[in-house]
Amino acid sequence: MAQSKKSHAYGTTNMSAGDEHVTVAKLVNYSESKRHIAKVHQLFNQEDAAAMPLQFLNEDDMPIWRFSRNDKYSFRSAYYHLMEVVIENNHLMVEGNWTKMWKLNIPKVKIFSWRSLRECLPVNERLIRKGVQCDKKCLCCDLNRENEWHCFFGCKASQEVWIEVGMWDNLHQQIDNAADYKQPVFHLLDSLESTNMAHIVMTLWMIWCR
Ligand SMILES: [Zn+2]
Repeated sequence: MAQSKKSHAYGTTNMSAGDEHVTVAKLVNYSESKRHIAKVHQLFNQEDAAAMPLQFLNEDDMPIWRFSRNDKYSFRSAYYHLMEVVIENNHLMVEGNWTKMWKLNIPKVKIFSWRSLRECLPVNERLIRKGVQCDKKCLCCDLNRENEWHCFFGCKASQEVWIEVGMWDNLHQQIDNAADYKQPVFHLLDSLESTNMAHIVMTLWMIWCR
């Protein structure tokens, strides 16, 4: 059923069986008729019925996309609806201050940061798990299996970078107690100014690009 424009993005009434094809125009073209207005109140809950412009009835019905604020379809709103409502995705959620991460003034490197925190980087440990034939050991130190934590914090080669840029003193205590790679990164994100956090992310990116 098409809906008229309202103060909120979409109606909250559950569709009753048999009325799926009733149009707004059918209901409100003769708004002076109490019979039609009564039908509106019969089909819609109080909030939805009150939001209908019953006195301005000359507009044609038009399709709307009820999952966006402006009633227009967008890939973003469809993706959001799928991920947040249709698909059970709690197991994919990564807790952390993503809003602050996306506001860092490092446009391209933010994508790298997102990939690393969503465990999408092709580190050796992940590649092997997916059946890719590659060296199990870190190419830099030849000691450990390469994962994000080792690549960015645990490897001697990466620690040399952190020392070189003067950030190692701030990092190493958090890293020693961290459960994984994401924990210290999000902790730093919470505790640092955006400019300093941008330097951290840029250093992570430089380590990855070595
Ligand atoms: Zn290493």
